Amino acid sequence: MDKALQLLKSIYGYDSFRPLQREIIDHVVAGNDALVLMPTGGGKSICYQIPALMLDGVALVVSPLISLMKDQVDALQANGVAADALNSSNEEYANRVIRERCENGVLKILYISPERLMLEIPWLQQCVKVSMIAIDEAHCVSQWGHDFRPEYTQLGVLNEVFPDVSKLALTATADKVTKADIVEQLRLRDPKIFISSFDRPNLSLDVRKAYMKRDRMRTILDVIGRHPNESGIIYCLSRKGAETMADDLREKGVSAGVYHAGLSSDERSRVQDDFINDRVMVICATIAFGMGIDKSNIRFVIHNNLPKSIESFYQEIGRGGRDGLPTETILFYNLQDLISLRNFAEESGQREINIEKLNRMKEYAEAQVCRRRILLNYFGETSECSCGNCDVCKNPPLYFDGTVLVQKALSAIKRCHEEIGFSATVDILKGRLTPAITEKDYHRISTFGVGRDITAYDWHAYLLQMLQRGYIEIAYNEDKHLKVTSLGEDILYGRKQAQLSVIVHEDLRVTRSKRKLTATDLSGKTSSIDDDLFEKLRALRGTIASEIRKPAYTVFSDKTLQALASEKPTNLVLFGNVFGIGEHKKKLYGKRFLEVIINHLNGSDEE
Ligand code: ADP
Ligand code: ZN
Repeated sequence: MDKALQLLKSIYGYDSFRPLQREIIDHVVAGNDALVLMPTGGGKSICYQIPALMLDGVALVVSPLISLMKDQVDALQANGVAADALNSSNEEYANRVIRERCENGVLKILYISPERLMLEIPWLQQCVKVSMIAIDEAHCVSQWGHDFRPEYTQLGVLNEVFPDVSKLALTATADKVTKADIVEQLRLRDPKIFISSFDRPNLSLDVRKAYMKRDRMRTILDVIGRHPNESGIIYCLSRKGAETMADDLREKGVSAGVYHAGLSSDERSRVQDDFINDRVMVICATIAFGMGIDKSNIRFVIHNNLPKSIESFYQEIGRGGRDGLPTETILFYNLQDLISLRNFAEESGQREINIEKLNRMKEYAEAQVCRRRILLNYFGETSECSCGNCDVCKNPPLYFDGTVLVQKALSAIKRCHEEIGFSATVDILKGRLTPAITEKDYHRISTFGVGRDITAYDWHAYLLQMLQRGYIEIAYNEDKHLKVTSLGEDILYGRKQAQLSVIVHEDLRVTRSKRKLTATDLSGKTSSIDDDLFEKLRALRGTIASEIRKPAYTVFSDKTLQALASEKPTNLVLFGNVFGIGEHKKKLYGKRFLEVIINHLNGSDEE
């Protein structure tokens, strides 16, 4: 067996490379530069970790966040790899030991922040044999990206300082501009660009339109209920929104935490730590959360509000399901968010770009074709698939002649001189006597109450469709009042017909997953997982995690536990063949896990 594959098996316990990993490793080991674009969870780390283990010397890994380095170092050490991070949060003594281990070549992988790296260049040049340099989260170098970090821009000097050392830039987000910017600013030498598919088939995609707060909460609680003792993230637009969401969830007995930029850094790292160690199961967060999170078993990601771009959206949902197991994502889309985000974009420094990005996000949310196809097309992969794992594929839209219905709404808007917004329109159609309505005498117009037979929820959804189809538009500069377009007038006056799609009132029971019951092994056949055994193994994993004070997933991933609970190995050789179990972990934990499996088998034999 060749060296790279052998390391993959003995260190990580994996049997085969994912697409491109192999090519990237060979390219780097041969001393070349490259840029790697792979989605979150795609397996970027292995692309530099294996070369680091194959080459002579110490590999430098530039990473923007200490928490991120810590997770990576933990995972490597758990697999018996000599890796560490040099940073200011270490004790001086610890840093001295790390330096020594670099100098005498014991350490194989050194994580370091860009600012620290700049300071250490003289030392690295004189005392250390640098084998290669990986620049993780490379999009941070670009102002066009969404995580610009000025420290990254200095990394270009590495090209002069270490001219003969292979440099590998890696990122999960890069549109064309960012891509070019990375290559230029890092001054990569004739880099080969590896772009892997951005598809993450294990993430289900689901958009729910025009949900009222109550329905949203019910849906969220259903999702949480489907994942007992499992982790999830709920992204909210504002700090306040995140806090309210967490309060509401706690009231329902959910173990929920809050994370946003308004918290002190201590509070933030505590919340993050609780989440990583499964002490808090659901995090309600603003976009500030997640970049430093390497937790592989996040089972659902919910967007309570519309994200500002497809890039952010994809990166956020990408934090779910890194272990490759089925993971649910839901995006709630309503008009209020669109209006708020539009205002942000209008006021932002890069108005045009941001509005364009928001429009693309909106198109995604409103789309009637396979959502995965839209995402993949957005990232430049032409795809005509119907994925079968998004809401559009699962419930293809049905259309009906909605002319009369649309006419009712348009007439209400016209009769109020186009001076009403979304909610007031619904109130008038439903015949609700709210103060805002009576104050303006809108309850006297002939359209008042003509839509009583339709629920407010459905009216919201129909109005959204009318907007998407261009029958109405929003006057952002006039208090977001609704205006009837000329196409709308054609319908109102009977010159054209209006098509609407049937609103699906989904029955959540149908989609409830039976995920726990089967696991797909490497040959693609499914075998059944013993749930009792799985829970016992999970308990043992928890015990070990608290003994070594590391997150549970650094012991074994959920996928490995599932494989154990279905393959039920009874000796060390079989144990070592299970997915995700390398030599180091086999030696460390093999006996204890085997004991649980064997006892379980004996116990169930006696029954
Ligand atoms: P990212 O691209 O986000 O940095 P990671 O490198 O963290 O992704 O990899 C995501 C997950 O996939 C990790 O749990 C990693 O161990 C796993 N993984 C990577 N390569 C393989 C492989 N060839 N076979 C199985 N699992 C893999
Ligand atoms: Zn689809």
